[in-house]
Amino acid sequence: VCRRELGPYNDQALCRICIHRIKPNSPPFCLQCGRSLESRDFAYRYCPDCRHTVYHFDRAWAVGAYDGILKDCIHQFKFKGRVDLLPIFTELFENFMDSYMNMEEFDAIVPVPLDSAKKRERTFNQAEILAKAVSELGGVDLITNNLLKTRRTHPQSKLSGRERRESLKNAFSVVEPSLFKDRNILLVDDVFTTGSTLNECTKLVLSKQVRGVSCLVLARG
Ligand SMILES: [Zn+2]
Ligand SMILES: [Zn+2]
Repeated sequence: VCRRELGPYNDQALCRICIHRIKPNSPPFCLQCGRSLESRDFAYRYCPDCRHTVYHFDRAWAVGAYDGILKDCIHQFKFKGRVDLLPIFTELFENFMDSYMNMEEFDAIVPVPLDSAKKRERTFNQAEILAKAVSELGGVDLITNNLLKTRRTHPQSKLSGRERRESLKNAFSVVEPSLFKDRNILLVDDVFTTGSTLNECTKLVLSKQVRGVSCLVLARG
């Protein structure tokens, strides 16, 4: 990020100064999407976007805001394959989960899937790598390859909110519903932008007799 030369004992992808410049979200959080609330919104308990949108999940947690260094790092991780950023993300998750979440509430961690063509292009699913870290930190079962994305959708960033929702309809499927049944599921993804993907996954998972669905993301847009 800053191009400063890393010292011989720094095995991280960022220098300590840049790591400390990543500002994690702090409470009060929007009760729906997990954003840090601005002081003018404290009384509402929801951020301005969430006052007009209802999602199907119980709530979402977001470690940070999708901007600055964290956004750059997520881009490098996702599109340039810089998996050496994972220890930094893991540390952010660990601090956030210790401070604000009770992981005993959850019975299973489920990553938001990529369709198979995209997974081949990218060679890995970034959400799956993050979900594995969350599962290990929280001591909660990781369930992969049960929630699948079975249809390729248009690049979400180029669509309006309504087009996103349309394009995601019926794009996901569950292989073995009994693996989700009666469990309280925590869906994990890298970024929450409009929430359409998380919402669509939640709708499907809720139809499999789960106890509840919440979401945890690295960054909220
Ligand atoms: Zn730096
Ligand atoms: Zn919100």
